[in-house]
Amino acid sequence: MFAIMENARLEELHLACDPHSGLRAIVAIHNTRLGPALGGCRYLAYADEDSAVRDAVRLARGMSYKAALAGLALGGGKAVIMRPPHLDSRAALFEAFGRAVENLGGRYITAVDSGTSGLDMDCIARHTRHVTSTSAGGDPSPHTALGVLAGIRATALARLGSDSLVGLRVAIQGLGHVGYALAEHLRAAGAELLVSDVDAGRLQLAVEQLGARAVEPEALLGSPCDILTPCGLGGAINPQTVDRLRCAAVAGAANNQLDSPEMGDALAERGILYAPDYVINSGGLIFVALQHQGHSGAEIAAHLGRIGARLTEIYAEAEAERRSPARVADDLAERLIYGG
Ligand code: NAD
Repeated sequence: MFAIMENARLEELHLACDPHSGLRAIVAIHNTRLGPALGGCRYLAYADEDSAVRDAVRLARGMSYKAALAGLALGGGKAVIMRPPHLDSRAALFEAFGRAVENLGGRYITAVDSGTSGLDMDCIARHTRHVTSTSAGGDPSPHTALGVLAGIRATALARLGSDSLVGLRVAIQGLGHVGYALAEHLRAAGAELLVSDVDAGRLQLAVEQLGARAVEPEALLGSPCDILTPCGLGGAINPQTVDRLRCAAVAGAANNQLDSPEMGDALAERGILYAPDYVINSGGLIFVALQHQGHSGAEIAAHLGRIGARLTEIYAEAEAERRSPARVADDLAERLIYGG
């Protein structure tokens, strides 16, 4: 266990157990140098405790990087609740988790993640104020989409010389909560849209409502376009796909777009500008964090807009140092998280 923590430079790892409700939870606090650790709470069936711990640790580390480059006074953390085979009361389970979060005294702030909803956060909120994205707070996805839009403008400016989206050909993979909202903004700004989704209904909607051109999921990555925008699952850029890309830049919402750090180098070698995923998709985190801290809608909107400026800074450093933006972003984040 300590080897896992040391490898990830994790500060704290907590286990919470409540036999009455069936709660078995892991809270990983990666780093609190910039502030309390904020990160979502997953509720999933894990094969074993080891995989649950590894998931929490890996994701907590990622949250530190995201919060640091989003300019938030927050560190990174993550919780996973292991879904029990039988559950009497979901509310009792999340209330028990709320008590566990409260016991951490504010060093960890929880939020919605895979398998949890605003209603689960409402149960947690009965026992602690260290929770965001309750049902009253609203869906963070539209804010993620706005952040990606700002990031696409900055990427277009750096790679194509203009931040105008008029006539820009954008290929969006995945039209879910973020992808569809982004498609609407891009369309309104004059972009030409190529779209794919494994869900035929969402695809049809984009064709009818936004005038988008539908492309088969397997063909989208190889379609000629200015910007490829992964908004589905992670791992879109991998050794099998990287040579098929026919875009000037990759800038999208999906987490873990690069299959490995080397894929960032591979994109740079091919002249494809990559917007580091955890920088461009930080709008949802910015929204839930600033909302929790009591900031106004206008302040949140202004902070979201700074995602573009952060990317511009990363691109300039990457060009000056002839390194991939992914490596530059990691170094910047690590300097903020660990100091030095
Ligand atoms: P979602 O589940 O609502 O949407 C994902 C969409 O991708 C679905 O419509 C799905 O059918 C489609 N899809 C899946 N596999 C596909 C494939 N092979 N080809 C084409 N389409 C495919 O998820 P979301 O909330 O819109 O998030 C999208 C991505 O952005 C995820 O990787 C998520 O982790 C990341 N992200 C989301 C947020 C947020 O605020 N929701 C914040 C940060 C990062």
